[in-house]
Amino acid sequence: MATVLDEAEVVETKRGTCPICGAGCYVKAKIANNRPLAIRPDRTAGFPADCPRAGQAIDYHDHPERVNYPMKRVGKRGEGKWQRISWDQALDEIAEKLASIRDRFGPEAVQTMGGSYKGAGDASCWRWSNLWGTPNILYQGKNCGEAELLSEWAVYGEQTCIGNRAIPGTTKSIILWGVGGSMSMASQVKNLRQFREQGGKVIAVDPRRTDVTDMSDLWLQLRPGTDGALAYGMINVIITEELYDADFVRKWCVGFDELTEVVREFTPERTSEITWVPAEKIVEAARIFATNKPGLIPFGLGAAELGKATTSAVFGKTYLRAITGNLDVEGGARFADPPDSTRFREEMHWDALIDHPLRKRDNISADRWPIASVRGLKAYRKAMEKVHPLGVGPTIYNMVVAPSAIPTAILEGKPYPVKAWILQAGNPLVSLCDARKLHEALMSDELELSVNMDHWMTPCGALADYVLPATDGLERPLLSNMWGFADAFSAAKRIVEPLYERRDDYQLWRELGNRLGQEGMWPDTMEEWFDRILEPSGVTHAELADQPVPWLMAEPGHRRYEERGFATASGKVELSSALLSGLGYPAIPEYEEPAWSPEGSPELSKDFPLILMTGNSLKWYYRSQHKHLEVMRKQHPYAQLTIHPDTAAELGIEEDSPVWVETPMGKVRQQAKFDAGMHPRVVHADSHMWYPERDAEGDAHFGVWESNINAILPDGEDYADYAGDNYMRGLICRVTPAEGNVPPLNLHPARLEMSR
Ligand code: SF4
Repeated sequence: MATVLDEAEVVETKRGTCPICGAGCYVKAKIANNRPLAIRPDRTAGFPADCPRAGQAIDYHDHPERVNYPMKRVGKRGEGKWQRISWDQALDEIAEKLASIRDRFGPEAVQTMGGSYKGAGDASCWRWSNLWGTPNILYQGKNCGEAELLSEWAVYGEQTCIGNRAIPGTTKSIILWGVGGSMSMASQVKNLRQFREQGGKVIAVDPRRTDVTDMSDLWLQLRPGTDGALAYGMINVIITEELYDADFVRKWCVGFDELTEVVREFTPERTSEITWVPAEKIVEAARIFATNKPGLIPFGLGAAELGKATTSAVFGKTYLRAITGNLDVEGGARFADPPDSTRFREEMHWDALIDHPLRKRDNISADRWPIASVRGLKAYRKAMEKVHPLGVGPTIYNMVVAPSAIPTAILEGKPYPVKAWILQAGNPLVSLCDARKLHEALMSDELELSVNMDHWMTPCGALADYVLPATDGLERPLLSNMWGFADAFSAAKRIVEPLYERRDDYQLWRELGNRLGQEGMWPDTMEEWFDRILEPSGVTHAELADQPVPWLMAEPGHRRYEERGFATASGKVELSSALLSGLGYPAIPEYEEPAWSPEGSPELSKDFPLILMTGNSLKWYYRSQHKHLEVMRKQHPYAQLTIHPDTAAELGIEEDSPVWVETPMGKVRQQAKFDAGMHPRVVHADSHMWYPERDAEGDAHFGVWESNINAILPDGEDYADYAGDNYMRGLICRVTPAEGNVPPLNLHPARLEMSR
């Protein structure tokens, strides 16, 4: 965005964070007259904004289509008629409606949801929700890797750190399981190269060839959705060949014999039949990982979102780390341990109110998926109380609702009614499965209040009653520990004052709280709240942000279990989990096929012969975001269906031509792209695509059904995993040529002129 400088204006250089997505990478910005003139990665701060999206930071910050003022719906829901109102009017009216809903239906009738990560902004939503008394919280992590974390809590009593990386020269092997290409792990590629140069072994598990699989010593190209079988097959080899860490297993694990029984049928040959990975590669992978120690299996989203098949996949990874003795060792799986020298738990996760006096009911999905409920959370807390009598670690994602429960609660009032929905920075009509059912719920008169706070008008925002303008990463301060997944806090100041009437998330919750009986609970500003969180550490937020490396790190430590045990009921790694069985689950999950797969639904698969993956990270977009930004849209203007060229030729499909991608629930239109690295029987469909330039069609906005693969993916009890997460990989589809051409890109900014 061109800026003409007055000679007298002072140009300052400030450190802040990139506003483009929630990763919070550090930038240095030249600022004049409260406007950023140029933004560059800050390489001193430890996490520079190096990805290609960051170059659009200034365009993002002051784009003509940003939402800049509160708006109230004046027509019917979804009709697109808005009136600009003041913040006070919006907050007064929303608070009044919330109080009325609480009086008639109880505090649990409010569903809050956060999308893209916003640092502690997300935690201010959880804080409000807990103070208010609703257990119905949903956040982005539920739809990514939460199933993986919950398995670690159930087996280890703690979770491994999201930032775990190989230590070159120390770590000897790494399994990159479902991490995707380097775009998904941009900050780790240099580390990976160094690791390999120093002799480290890399095993990649991925159904499609990527630059990361090309860097590996061994690539396991499995059938999508069969990760659990692969993990159990590797465990079978490790146990059969006695390659496990016998000393660690004897002293620190319970349930080894039961695990041995569960994996017995997963011989290399049987595992190969299920997964399509040659038996000798399964054996080789198991041997490499078990004999090159310490070894690491870092967090990877690809083994989650497999529907029912997720459960054995995430537990299988959890068992692999444990039986090879790679837990809590240097170069292996470090545990996430946010700095104890903060009020992290009390302030951000608000543990003190787990037994809120107003909350009478568990969350709306607790009966079906108790692992993620208040009941589940209490079970975790009880199991770990010997090691951590005051409670430990993040708790919020131990009680997050399953997304599929929300439309049912709104439309049918089951298990009890949800009447209000407050969404911040999320776009669930393109990010959640069975999106048409959610659309029906958001349009329903049963939903009495719908609030959307965002940077942009989205397909979801277009159905809201109130749309509120949010600050971006340049305009808000940051205190981040990645929802508690990390073992550190990073800090940054706001580097420009908010434009127009944009406000921090924190301010929404504080202002609503102050109108609804939470007076005295909320410091005036986000910065003051951050100071309160950091106070025990002796550093203020501003001081931390000004440090050369603005990070507050946890105390390093390894093998702490030797002194205090593991934080489970037995004090050991529970391969057979008492927590799981106490909640009604099998203590060790059996392998389950994906619900839609050649083995799971053979009849259906005859009509839908291709295996469908979705949801890979795209270079130019973070999930549903950035569709307004011209530079990015030009790079990737339309949703893409990636297919092997031989398969495309058989189907009469030409490169770049439009295709129908069809599942048993319907079809969407995407653009064919050829990739010889795909398995010929597997295709990948872009998810999260919507088109802000499209006119509304009735109550569907911004082309939300045109290419949106999540509109034709199933959700609910028959499909979800043990935690109720969405089912987005390891599905089936058919692909056919579509008529016409892919529409040309025709962005028309300033659609929201009224909002400026
Ligand atoms: S777009 Fe996201 S990942 Fe890329 S530099 Fe910015 S904050 Fe980091």
